[in-house]
Amino acid sequence: MSRLANLVLPHFNFDAAPMPSEWAESNLVIPKKMSPNSPGQFSLDSRPWARFILDKFHPDSGARRCDVAIAVQMAKTTLMTVGCAYRCNFAPVPIMIVGGMSASFAKREISENRLHPLFNSNEVLRTLKLHDPHQFRGLEMNLAFNRILVTGAGSDTNLAGSTQGIVCIDEASKIEHQHSTDAPEAHPIRLAEDRTKDFLGHEFIWKSSTPNSHNHIFWKDVEDGSFDHLFVPCPHCKEYFPFEFESRKGSEIATPGELEQTAEEGKPAEYRSVIWSGDARNADGTWSKSKIRESAHYVCPHNGCKIVDSDKPAMMRAFEPESYNKKADPSRFSIRVPSFYSPKRTFADLAIGFVDRGDLLTTGLQVFFNHELAKPWEDIDLKLKDEDLWKCKAEADLSYMRGFLPPVKIKRLIAAADPGQKETHWGVGAVDIDENIYMIDWGTVLSIPDLLAIRHQWNYCRAGHEKNKARPSFGIVDSGDFTSEVYKMCQRSGSFWWPSKGSDATTGEWGKSVLKNYPGLMLYTYVDKVAKDELYDLRIRRRQDRRFFFPSNVDPAYIAGYSGQERIDRGVRARWKKVRHDHDGDVAKGIQLGSWIISNRRIRGDDAPIDRTGEP
Ligand SMILES: [Zn+2]
Repeated sequence: MSRLANLVLPHFNFDAAPMPSEWAESNLVIPKKMSPNSPGQFSLDSRPWARFILDKFHPDSGARRCDVAIAVQMAKTTLMTVGCAYRCNFAPVPIMIVGGMSASFAKREISENRLHPLFNSNEVLRTLKLHDPHQFRGLEMNLAFNRILVTGAGSDTNLAGSTQGIVCIDEASKIEHQHSTDAPEAHPIRLAEDRTKDFLGHEFIWKSSTPNSHNHIFWKDVEDGSFDHLFVPCPHCKEYFPFEFESRKGSEIATPGELEQTAEEGKPAEYRSVIWSGDARNADGTWSKSKIRESAHYVCPHNGCKIVDSDKPAMMRAFEPESYNKKADPSRFSIRVPSFYSPKRTFADLAIGFVDRGDLLTTGLQVFFNHELAKPWEDIDLKLKDEDLWKCKAEADLSYMRGFLPPVKIKRLIAAADPGQKETHWGVGAVDIDENIYMIDWGTVLSIPDLLAIRHQWNYCRAGHEKNKARPSFGIVDSGDFTSEVYKMCQRSGSFWWPSKGSDATTGEWGKSVLKNYPGLMLYTYVDKVAKDELYDLRIRRRQDRRFFFPSNVDPAYIAGYSGQERIDRGVRARWKKVRHDHDGDVAKGIQLGSWIISNRRIRGDDAPIDRTGEP
């Protein structure tokens, strides 16, 4: 057979495609240039969990997205490079690799230090190169069946215009959105991902990085995916747990600040996963790194068993992945891998990283969290407690039941809805003349167009006043997701439903803009942080000034739809952390936006002309 036929045959037989890890471990040699410390036959024996991640590159893995939050120096770029090399052989499609912000950094780190040495050292890859050496360059490699583009995210033009089957984004947390009010562009990560739209259903998007902040799009994607964690069995009691650097405060996992406070204790009174001798000190009382090395070990969270570094290889071989987000779309795989899972990182290394964290004036535990624990750093500034929510239950003179109006002078009833993957949540609230909001009813519908019919069922009265019924006069629906479906529904609603969209700005309240392609429709925009500050902090937590009320018979399931809200960082950087399954809270936020719109004294954004004719 010709050389070409040999190459072609396996490629179009998807059933025959081996697992990426199996193929790589039996075919690839890692050259010294790519891995100065461990060149030689490619092997994942010392980190068996990496096979589970690499195998997502298989065309039939079912994963269309793979977001890997991983500690530093755990060969994530090598894993990505090997995955791409595999796909040049099996089910080849055009590949784009984005290596951080700068194209010259990507050229050096991805092409020159990894892809080129890997292709040149391995016959199975070398045969894919074309005869003309100019076809195999730093930023573009044309191969027998596909081509690899390597670029940086710094210039949007690098990301636009091409069609890709696979997009890999390395160091994704370092890719920043260049905010510009003149030309609102999508985040560069989204621009890059959008290159795969012609391959929809067959695309593969890989992102890997150490995380930095909760607000970064990379971490949000990690949390929105399956959010797998690697569980390993205790060598003594055989119970499974994930390696974590954590401590407990009472029955709860300590916050980062509380964990930090245990740094002066070798073995705190309450559980901490990594402990060492309290006597591991120098003469001046400071921690002695060499003495910490002698005594540091891991404590089994189930039964307190002592786990040492030599237990780790067998534990890692027996790993079981466990999803922390079981509601994730099955095509969205994500995983978090702290440095505990590195074969080279010892428990003492983690202990020393923890006590050697720098002072509070510099970064505190932030670097330790990002680089070792593969966790974003958060400094929680405000935490909404469930008891705060229960205190919003209408009582005494204000008592009312769900489905009835509260005993106050109502200005308007306002509806709101928040479309989700599986269902759309809706709610109806009453707003009084002082802008207090009373939630009076809520529920879900299966599809966005169902909102057109259900609103006719909303007809409420005060208990005992059945003749005086009232209906919501308009509704606000979140159009951040399923945008065109929402716009179309609003257009058909006869000026009842209006689309809304939150922004990441930090000041202002709301604005509106004309939707040119949807005649008669206005988009109401609002500042998400300001809306959440008002709803969760001022109205619910502090219960000052304008209030927010639940009916007297509100149930715990509905309260749960508002709980878990946290504001992180402080001052101008303060942001509300994204909370999963907070659709009921988002509906209340929509009703609050409605109250802003009908208010005369509210500050509106200056991005829209003052024109109230299209208002609800
Ligand atoms: Zn145990």
